[in-house]
Amino acid sequence: MIERRLSFLIAGLVVFFVSAVLWNVSAPTRRPARAGGAVDSTTLVTVRADTTRATPGGASDTTVTRGGQSPAPPAPPLSADASGPSYMELLARSETRRRIRASAGYTYLNEVVAQSEDSMLHRWDNRILTPVRVFLGPSTAANFQPGFLDAVRGAFQRWEEAGVPLRFRLDADSAAAEVRFKWRLQFEIQRTGQTDLTWDQDGRLVNGVVTLATFDPAGRPLSVDDVRVVALHEIGHLIGLDHSADSTDIMFAMTKVRDLSSRDIASARLLYQLPPGTLR
Ligand SMILES: [Zn+2]
Repeated sequence: MIERRLSFLIAGLVVFFVSAVLWNVSAPTRRPARAGGAVDSTTLVTVRADTTRATPGGASDTTVTRGGQSPAPPAPPLSADASGPSYMELLARSETRRRIRASAGYTYLNEVVAQSEDSMLHRWDNRILTPVRVFLGPSTAANFQPGFLDAVRGAFQRWEEAGVPLRFRLDADSAAAEVRFKWRLQFEIQRTGQTDLTWDQDGRLVNGVVTLATFDPAGRPLSVDDVRVVALHEIGHLIGLDHSADSTDIMFAMTKVRDLSSRDIASARLLYQLPPGTLR
């Protein structure tokens, strides 16, 4: 009798775990947009370089991943044991994927996740009380105008007002800053801005570098309002968003609009309601 009960119990457990595995498998998983994302073998920090071109003219925008200096096989996550993520962890990821799928249409997080080379959501921790420290200084680059700094400040304020639980302190000195802004004359390739991010193994952003040009790739000087638009797009990357396929969003790769769309705002808000980290 006890043996029968045990067999029954074991059979039940087997069905349970097989269902769990099948459930996870049946959920669409993302694949990296391209192979080759390298991972720093010691700290599992990944750096992303991302770009935009905000002025009309339709230059192509690319996303590249710059990994560690010496690409190495990714080390296992520090927090996971040898048997991999727990069932509860997989369940939580499944729920996150479900929420992202359910938001299709009013957010573009699905696309963001699809473009993520490591199938991770990347974002800052909630930073209302301890604002992200940003270094934003002037430049000697030609066509640099003091108004560019105000344009960037205005872009930060726009994102803060959009309802993401982030605040930025724009008076940090360079050494203490988590985010640094750099200016350059022009990019050699078709872009006017670039954001490089570093995150930890749990997908939490830890620092970023935003580089803005003062001339577009065609050699035209950028205006204060052009810089505001480029900054809106790059700060979108800075908070963890990637490109939208819809040209009415500021996060469209070749930005056409000059303000955040409702989808930009909804995508950022949802991102900050979800736990960062892998969705696989
Ligand atoms: Zn971009």
